[in-house]
Amino acid sequence: SNPEQDFVLKTIKSRDVHFVRFWFTDVLGHMKSFAVIPSELEDAFADGMGFDGSCIEGFCRTEESDMLAFPDASTFQVLPWRPESNAVARMFCNIRTPDGKPFEGDPRHVLARTVARAQDMGYVFNVGPEVEYYYFKDANGTELLDRGGYFDLTSLDYASDLRRDTVLTLEKMGIPVEYSHHENGPSQHEIDLRFTDALSMADAVMTYKLVVKEIAMKHGVYASFMPKPMSGEPGSGMHVHMSLFDFDGNNVFFDEADMQGYHLSTTAKQFLAGILKYAPEFALITNPCVNSYKRLLAGGEAPIYLSWARANRSTLVRVPGYRPNREVACRLELRSPDPSANPYLAFSVMLAAGLAGIEEGLEPPAPVEDRDLFTQSRQELRKQGFQTLPESLGDAVELFAESKLMHDVLGEHICNYLVEAKRAEWDAYQSNVSEWERSRYLAVL
Ligand code: GLU
Ligand code: MG
Ligand code: MG
Repeated sequence: SNPEQDFVLKTIKSRDVHFVRFWFTDVLGHMKSFAVIPSELEDAFADGMGFDGSCIEGFCRTEESDMLAFPDASTFQVLPWRPESNAVARMFCNIRTPDGKPFEGDPRHVLARTVARAQDMGYVFNVGPEVEYYYFKDANGTELLDRGGYFDLTSLDYASDLRRDTVLTLEKMGIPVEYSHHENGPSQHEIDLRFTDALSMADAVMTYKLVVKEIAMKHGVYASFMPKPMSGEPGSGMHVHMSLFDFDGNNVFFDEADMQGYHLSTTAKQFLAGILKYAPEFALITNPCVNSYKRLLAGGEAPIYLSWARANRSTLVRVPGYRPNREVACRLELRSPDPSANPYLAFSVMLAAGLAGIEEGLEPPAPVEDRDLFTQSRQELRKQGFQTLPESLGDAVELFAESKLMHDVLGEHICNYLVEAKRAEWDAYQSNVSEWERSRYLAVL
């Protein structure tokens, strides 16, 4: 028998677990779940648990709706915010079709497949996300909790107890937190997870978003990961720090001898060049809503120019300079993604873009160290040859639809679904006449 599965069955007894939630993610990145009683688990490990996939976004049509969820025993955790007796636990699942094949529409499978490709090339893909969000008094989002700003301390930061409770809960679930602080916006916060391999991290990001919301609810407030919830205030990003390690635990992005002071290996530079080349094509995945593009375009420290640098936060990719242990910490920080992205798909496309950069032997452009791209006009920068991310969901979906790389990484099923769903989302938005338009045009035209 399997030791991880035995551990789960034992823990269920010792921790008085009465419900085991099976977690998985739809194509849009929403967590889905059903609860199973412990006596079903042994069978579920062996044969999966059947469910109807036809109601899950991006899964399947009714005529082919039977799906099987196979729980991954290594992801077993007791939910700390539920009662201690008759406790509730969770496991992430892999989704298979009735004939036993991995289901094409399962985002966790897409990431597992992409990570396996990196492994064939000798690499482990590590990521560390910085996830930002806002607290509101309720889900209408009209009232904020505080007026604090970046790194402000308690008197201006009513949410520090909320953050503390959130961090402790994550740690109880085996998710180490590196850093947490008040962000720039009023009532905006950030909790950074300690880097780990991409598949574990995608599971952790799903858990993180749920925990932030659960703890907020427990304190009678509401947390939102909407990319740009308020005009005139900073958006919420999900910067992702990325590196490739070899199987001995050496960071292959680090090269002491690199003369520019960045200490980036040729592999790291090729990976970087791949990210810059493919960022417009994968924007639909890292920035998947209409609202995502308002964060990117409306200022507030979110980058759109396909550029990189060390210290410069106005570039798309940054090479963070602070590194007490630089052989390990050498990494690239992609600053465009936002927390509305499906983390499984987002990490998949970043990795695939980086690997394509390595395979194509690409070279990055010169870094943009000395200029703040946020303060220069778009026409000016375009004239100087700076290309940008797509400026709307509509542009993003068309670039995505044409991308061979995206079809290769995500597969036909997910690509077709996303192109259709995101075109419809863009059309729905475009056909809505907003208050802004009425107040701007009605009286003067
Ligand atoms: N909130 C900014 C964004 O939307 C990032 C601020 C920061 O540098 O952490 O990406
Ligand atoms: Mg931040
Ligand atoms: Mg950052």
